[in-house]
Amino acid sequence: MALNEFAANPPPTMPTNGLPAFSAQTRLLVVAPHPDDETIATGLLIQQVLAAGGEVRILLLTAGDNNPWPQRWLERRVWIGAADRQRWGRRRHSELLQALHCLGAPTPALQTLGWPDMGVTDMLLHATAEAVPALASAIQRFRPDLVALPALDDRHPDHGSAHVLVRLALAGQSDPPRLLAYLVHGHAHYNGFIEIHGSAAQTANKRNALAAHRSQMALSSKRLCRLTDMPERYLDLSAMPTASSSTLPWRPSRWLRPWLRLSVVSAAGAQSWRWRHAPLQRDSHDQDAYQLMVLAGTAAAPRFARLALDLPSVWIFDHWGWCAL
Ligand SMILES: [Zn+2]
Repeated sequence: MALNEFAANPPPTMPTNGLPAFSAQTRLLVVAPHPDDETIATGLLIQQVLAAGGEVRILLLTAGDNNPWPQRWLERRVWIGAADRQRWGRRRHSELLQALHCLGAPTPALQTLGWPDMGVTDMLLHATAEAVPALASAIQRFRPDLVALPALDDRHPDHGSAHVLVRLALAGQSDPPRLLAYLVHGHAHYNGFIEIHGSAAQTANKRNALAAHRSQMALSSKRLCRLTDMPERYLDLSAMPTASSSTLPWRPSRWLRPWLRLSVVSAAGAQSWRWRHAPLQRDSHDQDAYQLMVLAGTAAAPRFARLALDLPSVWIFDHWGWCAL
């Protein structure tokens, strides 16, 4: 094979930047909050693991049925009831199966948990004892050595909360899989990504997979195509230092504080407070910063905090979101 031909068509087992070479032993689990995340974030990764003979499992958390604007547009209706949402969820499920077919993943590679779309944060905060074991058993059954999961600072609340759930589900595991975090909504504020570039054929397959998500392409094709045409970027969490500070990264304006809610979750469960009742103290080194006081039974790592406005809003994205403590 000529050198330039080799460069254009790298063999599938070629080690990628910072990752071990994929092989028949590679077991990749993709945690996708909604149908289309698997294609946008991991369409190339999935193909490269499959091409090396490895196994792939897509763990879909929700059916993506709470997706009113594309549904209103495509179905020409204003009011969307429960039956309409279920129909939309079935439509997105079949689009996802077509997308997986384009990526070369067989139908049994898909496993669904059926959680409520836009309800993953509620599952985490109010049904921790049910959600964490459900995720842990799905992970244990597949025994992945690689898990692609949403980034903690993704601005979609289902994504950030899915990250926390996976971390809690893996807490205490003696031989945890390597965790690769992907960002779909928002901008990364750090460097050091692993990048995956696809061959021309893999990139074309990924575009076809995205086109299969027709319900999402209706209103957002420009944004989705832009995301899909970029190399896939992952933050390798195993290469990150473990967070050890209890100082919160947020300094919310005093005018907003009456409507703020702070939540803390760990393997011990979840707790939430209005800002003025939260167990916070001023940081001794920085009087503008707040430190979370140690709470009985919740000091064990990993521990995560979330700050959110406790008001109904049509804006779905997180402003502060989650942090690791
Ligand atoms: Zn999503």
